Amino acid sequence: MTSTDARTLPDHLDALFVGGTWVAPAGSDTLTVVNPTTEEPLATVPAGTPADVDRAVTAARAAFPAWAATPVAERAALLTALADGLAARVPELAQLIAREVGSPLRFATSTQAGLPIEVLRSYAALLGEFSFEEEIGNSLVLREPIGVVGAITPWNYPLHQVVAKVAAALAAGCTVVLKPTEVAPLSAYVLAAVAAEVGLPAGVLNVVPGTGPVVGEAIAAHPDVDMVSFTGSVRAGRRVQAVAAGTVKKVALELGGKSANVILDDADLTRAVKVGVANCYVNGGQTCTAWTRMLVPESLHSAAVELAIDSAEKYTVGDPLDGATRLGPMVSAAQRDRVRGYIEKGVAEGATLATGGPSAPLDRGFFVRPTVFAAVRPESTIGQEEIFGPVLSVIPYRSEAEAVEIANGTPYGLSGAVFAGERDRAVAFARRLRTGQVMVNGGAFNPVAPFGGYKQSGIGRELGRYGLEEFLEVKSVQL
Ligand code: NAD
Repeated sequence: MTSTDARTLPDHLDALFVGGTWVAPAGSDTLTVVNPTTEEPLATVPAGTPADVDRAVTAARAAFPAWAATPVAERAALLTALADGLAARVPELAQLIAREVGSPLRFATSTQAGLPIEVLRSYAALLGEFSFEEEIGNSLVLREPIGVVGAITPWNYPLHQVVAKVAAALAAGCTVVLKPTEVAPLSAYVLAAVAAEVGLPAGVLNVVPGTGPVVGEAIAAHPDVDMVSFTGSVRAGRRVQAVAAGTVKKVALELGGKSANVILDDADLTRAVKVGVANCYVNGGQTCTAWTRMLVPESLHSAAVELAIDSAEKYTVGDPLDGATRLGPMVSAAQRDRVRGYIEKGVAEGATLATGGPSAPLDRGFFVRPTVFAAVRPESTIGQEEIFGPVLSVIPYRSEAEAVEIANGTPYGLSGAVFAGERDRAVAFARRLRTGQVMVNGGAFNPVAPFGGYKQSGIGRELGRYGLEEFLEVKSVQL
């Protein structure tokens, strides 16, 4: 471990955050967090156990009645305090996430650290206007917090995925047991430290690091956890749903994607391709909503591929802490090998490798070349499966009907995009897509718009009002 790394690590990395304090784990096993740029260990955290989960759930259960009864204005004030606490630590958070995930520092600052703060503030604001009750005929309908929430999160946006759940759950009046990803758990320690600092009541937020099969499954199976909110792969989401079924609890799932960017024949092709490549490569392509398939009219395929090559080759691959870097490493050796494996498979299945390829661009670090495939067959492996790396598949189509069919022709439905000359034409096309989000002509990400998937991309929605409602039960009182 280098001294620079040690200086910027959060405190209490040998502990769990339970009942408002840092406590020793029940076991002695640890998990190593690796810096994907240097391939060296960055930190260790405890490998939690079912006994740790049980302790955290007990703390969350004990805290629930008082938190649920806390006036919404007080809950909102604490969410704002959490946001302020994180805002004071943006440089620290950005450095940590750049180191543990490999996100370029500028992006780590603006999005990895910045977005969670925005989300916390959005929930504080929402509490000022959201109505927790209404009348329907002779009934008073009450919306009450569901109870103790188990939150299980991935590594690609480690703090955002945590806050998307924690902010909404806390706003609703729920208490939380969080298992952050074992690959990038460090920012969750900062959040817990801020929670302690701002006086979030003991037990409202508990953090138990550990692996999915041990801590994640213990949360999903726990009889005193009322709901599991999971973000991650389809494989693990399916397992969480199966384990949770034993105690019939609510399960919200945010899973993978294979989103299509559909460029119609009258679109501004240069802009559509440029924005499309940038979207596909953001965070090293390790983004669940990435537009990894670019659908273009057959007659524009060559021109689109040339533009995509031009964009891709401008990406500077390197150390995320270097200001010139636009593409950092993949998060882990396993992820790098997986992405390279897909590139090899694309070549083997006959797609045209337009730029990039499977060879290592740098001697050290888990790097992958920014890659573009042309003439990809929609049904091929790289046309169907989530790669989670900087790999774009350009797919030609012959008619709008065929474009709809290809765009909808995977098991996923998380996000997507349409570019067209006229906004109305793009919106009409967007209505035909079986997916949870569609960006029209490069429309910006909206942190209060409902976020989630159709089909195997998930169940339920996060962010904004829809995200809050996931954590509420509904009670009818007939008068
Ligand atoms: P992953 O499924 O390997 O892990 C996600 C979380 O689940 C981790 O905390 C992990 O420890 C836990 N987990 C793993 N196995 C488990 C089990 N058997 N029981 C309980 N928990 C278990 O995913 P990842 O590699 O961390 O993240 C990448 C995946 O996440 C991609 O598929 C990506 O598309 C998806 N993702 C989806 C969204 C979304 O909002 N839809 C956002 C980000 C990432």
